[in-house]
Amino acid sequence: MLLRHTPNKLIDRQALTVNPAKTCQPIGAMYAALGIHGCLPHSHGSQGCCSYHRSTLTRHYKEPVMASTSSFTEGSSVFGGQSNLIQAIGTIFKVYDPDVIAVHSTCLSETIGDDLPQIIGKAVEDELIPEGKYVIYANTPSYIGSHVTGYANMLVGMVRAFSTNTLRKKNVVNIVAGWMEPSDMAEIKRIAHEMEARIILFPDTSDVLDAPMTGKHVMYPKGGTTIAELIATGDSKFTMGLGHFCTEDACIRLENKCKVRFDVLDIPIGLKATDRFVSSLARHANVPVPDSITDDRGRLIDMIADMHKYLYGKRVAIFGDPDTILPFIEFMLSMDMKPVYIVSGTPGKYMDERLKTLLDEKVPEAKFMNGERADMLQLHSWIKEEGVDLLMGNTYGKYIARDENIPFLRIGFPVLDRVGHSYFPVVGYKGAMHILSRMLDAILNHEDANCKEEKVELVM
Ligand code: SF4
Repeated sequence: MLLRHTPNKLIDRQALTVNPAKTCQPIGAMYAALGIHGCLPHSHGSQGCCSYHRSTLTRHYKEPVMASTSSFTEGSSVFGGQSNLIQAIGTIFKVYDPDVIAVHSTCLSETIGDDLPQIIGKAVEDELIPEGKYVIYANTPSYIGSHVTGYANMLVGMVRAFSTNTLRKKNVVNIVAGWMEPSDMAEIKRIAHEMEARIILFPDTSDVLDAPMTGKHVMYPKGGTTIAELIATGDSKFTMGLGHFCTEDACIRLENKCKVRFDVLDIPIGLKATDRFVSSLARHANVPVPDSITDDRGRLIDMIADMHKYLYGKRVAIFGDPDTILPFIEFMLSMDMKPVYIVSGTPGKYMDERLKTLLDEKVPEAKFMNGERADMLQLHSWIKEEGVDLLMGNTYGKYIARDENIPFLRIGFPVLDRVGHSYFPVVGYKGAMHILSRMLDAILNHEDANCKEEKVELVM
């Protein structure tokens, strides 16, 4: 038993969180910033924060993650970090030559009250920012929200710094990517290309955090949304945000700044969410849906119909980021599975409302919680009360899965102990087929290993 502290009975807690289902804001800001081509994320705080953020991203993506830090000392903790950041900006442009420095704050610099726009303004005055180069920022105090909030804040920073309305509208649709894997961002671009829709995807971590091994170290890999594309988002005719928690603020900001109307959809995970994405893209880009996409949809439906008997009524516990797990839950419901326990550490009323709508009719017994008090202890206690057939979530679920002998499917962030997530997409119809096969593998492998001998089936 690795989680011996989890009681068999639910304990009513008012003020204690045990193993929160989230991580800290700057990690999201750093990940989003890596989706700009030629960008060096900069952590305005102590070295320890920056090391933690980099190592978490490196462990998840199995790629070196470059970032710089203001390296606060005791002095900066008392007097503020302005001189550290000013010096850092000058040094970074001289030594590492990025196109953009994306500064995010940390708990310490936020508590001191460092004013990022004022400090960056001072760097401009001191002529430390070379012509054609940029310093953007996001405030990411980690005692509010989660890594998802940090990601959303950095997207707002991109719009604030770059999006420009030149009054020459173009037949282009912006797609604001919620927190997805590089493979998912590549799949979104593939689908748009297949539909011949003109898009600007931002941020875009494909070919950055899944870059091929070439034997040469490249400080700024070839992927990422370019500055020219980010500036041009202000001239696009429409914006589609994928994921309410990650992208809604950036979409609102873009509309207010450049008058680009928007719609926020789910990340296209599963059948219905992909249907909505494809039809929305077809409508706003004014393109038809090609047969190749319709055929992919048909293959997914065929697979669901064939495998439905193995999935029907299966009880599932799922935890993670709301933009990821909401469409997963909808997908499971459409296959008559029962997501009975749901936990997300990211706060926000939208999740409550959405879950009520999704679950009320099909799984009224479902229990869910999000925000600061929603933790892994809560999820484990629910599972101990009445078991589930499948657990889905990030690496931290493996202890529960082991203790309770439950099949476990790794999804979301972070996945620290397996590979594949950054290479094989879960979005779109093909992604849904991939998820479905992994769900079945998890459930049926467990069944094969644990059922009575006379029940072992050779053929499905
Ligand atoms: S929670 Fe705050 S102090 Fe801790 S690593 Fe994150 S930013 Fe740094």
